[in-house]
Amino acid sequence: MTEIRAAICEAFGAPLRLAPVRLAPPGPGEVEVTLAACAICHSDISYIDGGWGGALPAVFGHEASGTVSATGPGSRYAPGDRVLVTLIRACGSCLSCATGRPVLCTAPKPERSPISLPDGTPVTRGLNCGAFAERVVVDQSQLAPLPGDIGMDVAALLSCGVITGIGAAVHTAGIRPGEVVVVIGAGGVGLNAIQGARLAGAARIIAIDLSEAKLAAAREFGATDTLLATAEKPWSAARRLAGRAADCVLVTVGATAAYDSAPRYLAPGGRLVAVGMPHSGETARYEPVILAATGQSITGSLMGETVLARDIPRLLDLYRQGRLKLDELVSGRWPLERINDAIADTRTGAARRNVIIF
Ligand SMILES: [Zn+2]
Ligand SMILES: [Zn+2]
Repeated sequence: MTEIRAAICEAFGAPLRLAPVRLAPPGPGEVEVTLAACAICHSDISYIDGGWGGALPAVFGHEASGTVSATGPGSRYAPGDRVLVTLIRACGSCLSCATGRPVLCTAPKPERSPISLPDGTPVTRGLNCGAFAERVVVDQSQLAPLPGDIGMDVAALLSCGVITGIGAAVHTAGIRPGEVVVVIGAGGVGLNAIQGARLAGAARIIAIDLSEAKLAAAREFGATDTLLATAEKPWSAARRLAGRAADCVLVTVGATAAYDSAPRYLAPGGRLVAVGMPHSGETARYEPVILAATGQSITGSLMGETVLARDIPRLLDLYRQGRLKLDELVSGRWPLERINDAIADTRTGAARRNVIIF
């Protein structure tokens, strides 16, 4: 057992408490990573707020990077390896994994968490990681090697926000050159959906958000046009801007109001991609007759349908070429002691990504 400091969620909606926890050594196929950075994602906040349930106490945090500090039996990593840590845990042999969709792995999760309080009380390893802590113990399938020339703070963003946005545009939406794309929400995931659409060759990328500042960021990341969500019938304005309705609309925020309006942007045959995650139980409304009569589709995109071994090297290459923005995504760097301030800043919606630096 190693003693580390972690930001513990003891009650939904309450501030996290920084306290010592015990971390079990890595078991077969597991790796202990000493973290350098962990970004704050809106999924962490949804869990902290109790939006998706789960057992407490828990340690959340899942967008991390660091250095391997111990390995269990059968690990292909070695101490000193630089890695990013994701929540994508894949057995490699279930039907989902075997058909190239590791984000949908159906293998049961391990029942025992490696994290516990000093008195032995088990602590939930939130989002398969528990990365609001100085170290994590995770399955080695959750890691991807990092080259020495990338900063740990920007690398951490590749673990979730970047792959979720880009993968939704490139893998799930399958955007093709010349298409008209609408991205609702210009936060951390939305900006990456925008750069994914640009990499895929979209002719028009129209960003919709409630904030003028975020729309300015959207233009920086490749949006050709921007519209305030509060404008009257923004879907009509989008159609006027592009000269036609959208081939694809990506909803990257967890607001059901955004889901209610999203189908209005679509052209016949258009596809709506659900990326942002509202709290459990929230519902959106749409007219099935329109889908049937116009050949439109709605599909979900989890973690950008990422395959780590395929996608992380590609994204690192694009970053080195200057075709993928990562540094510009970091809007704040915070010590672990100030994690509640960093979370509060993320809640305001103004941040791109706040990163905890260990
Ligand atoms: Zn995330
Ligand atoms: Zn699997």
